[in-house]
Amino acid sequence: MKTARIFSAALLAACAASAGAASTCHGSVSHGSLEDSVQLPSEGANYAAYSSLAIAMGRNHVHSEVSAIMLDAYAKLERAAPGSQYVYGESGNEFGGRFRPHRTHQNGLSVDFFVPVRDKGGHAARLPTPATQRFGYDIEFDKHARYGAYSIDFTAMAEHLYQLDQAARARGHGIALVIFDTAYLPRLFAAPRGAALKKLNFMKGKPWVRHDEHYHVDFAVPCTR
Ligand SMILES: [Zn+2]
Repeated sequence: MKTARIFSAALLAACAASAGAASTCHGSVSHGSLEDSVQLPSEGANYAAYSSLAIAMGRNHVHSEVSAIMLDAYAKLERAAPGSQYVYGESGNEFGGRFRPHRTHQNGLSVDFFVPVRDKGGHAARLPTPATQRFGYDIEFDKHARYGAYSIDFTAMAEHLYQLDQAARARGHGIALVIFDTAYLPRLFAAPRGAALKKLNFMKGKPWVRHDEHYHVDFAVPCTR
């Protein structure tokens, strides 16, 4: 009897953990913190994290709503962008707060995504993001959106942003800001999903670092002060 009770208590605890407690964020992306954060899965059918080392350091924590939005979008992309491979980058620490070298990423609502790419043969590929290149952040794409054998797949990227926006709206949220090299925006907007992206809030000024190899997204999820 006692064993059964302990077992059911353990089962309940396991269910609570898998359902995931809702996170609470405080403050803003540039001055904030996060309670009951979620660590993103390291990989799925069509996506992977940028670095197992960075994951071991716990640098892929987000607000539970952001995790749900991201995973909903990846699931939709399996049909909407078959074959495309996505790589997510840095998000934040377990409890949020200062996240060097980023200026934001403090309350679980900021996520960096590495650009989906195609290789020389035109096949969908994952941009390599080794620690030796600062986990991919040192990669520089040229004005033709090429880096070595890789070129940015604007169609796959536009579909991703579209699905993130849709998934965010479906949960009653949205996208607050997208940062991406403004020189590439015409090519992004020319993609099949491009027109739908024009209503998103892209940063118009020059960000403090070039956002060519990755796009930064701040999600609009309510936080307490
Ligand atoms: Zn960022």
